Formats: sequence, C-alpha cells, structure tokens
Amino acid sequence: MPTIVKGDTVMVRRGREKGKRGTIKAVFPRANAATVEGINVVKRHTKTGTQQQNMGGAAQTGGILEKEAPLPLSALMYVCVKCNMPARVRYQDGANGIQRVCAKCGEPARESSKGA
Ligand SMILES: [Zn+2]
Repeated sequence: MPTIVKGDTVMVRRGREKGKRGTIKAVFPRANAATVEGINVVKRHTKTGTQQQNMGGAAQTGGILEKEAPLPLSALMYVCVKCNMPARVRYQDGANGIQRVCAKCGEPARESSKGA
C-alpha cells in the first residue's frame, strides 16, 4: 500500500524545490515517482510528431510545454491536514478496511477518490 496517493499534500524533502508544498497530481508506482502540482516545473520544447515520453499529460502537438517533472517518492513527505506538518503515515483498521492515518495525531488521510 502506497504512503502517498493522488490528492495528498506533500512537502519536498530535497532538491531545488526543498521545503515547498504541493498536491500530488499523479503517482507512477513503477518509477517510484510522482508529480506535484506546481513543483519541479520544467519547460520542454516539443516538436510536432516527436514521440514524447508522456507521463500522464495530454496529447502534445509541439511548442513550449510547461509541466511538472516527476520527483522520487523518497524526496516527498506526506503533510497531515490537521497537524499541517510533514508526518509519517501509519496504517489502521477502519470501517472501510485499512486506512492511512497520521502517525502523530491519528487524522485519517484523504483517500484517493479515483482509485489511482
Ligand atoms: Zn496529524
């Protein structure tokens, strides 16, 4: 079970965006990476017809594209909505099965609504 899912608020622990917070846009479990809204945005010059490695983006037809580059999950830390601080996540049996909760205050994490 992943500790970070789409829709979570996370803090960047290292890299040039260290200390910034954002919302998870997409998680790429096979790459152990995730994109975070507004974090690690890169500009890419794309050419029409060029096959891009498309990680969750829309179809590209060329031009300059700004998009979030994936960050390793190890560089991201879950931020508890109640503590408003980075916190460890633990798992707890809840009404709907195993639930992710904040290890500090026990506040349940918001579950991914789209099953991602
Ligand atoms: Zn908490």
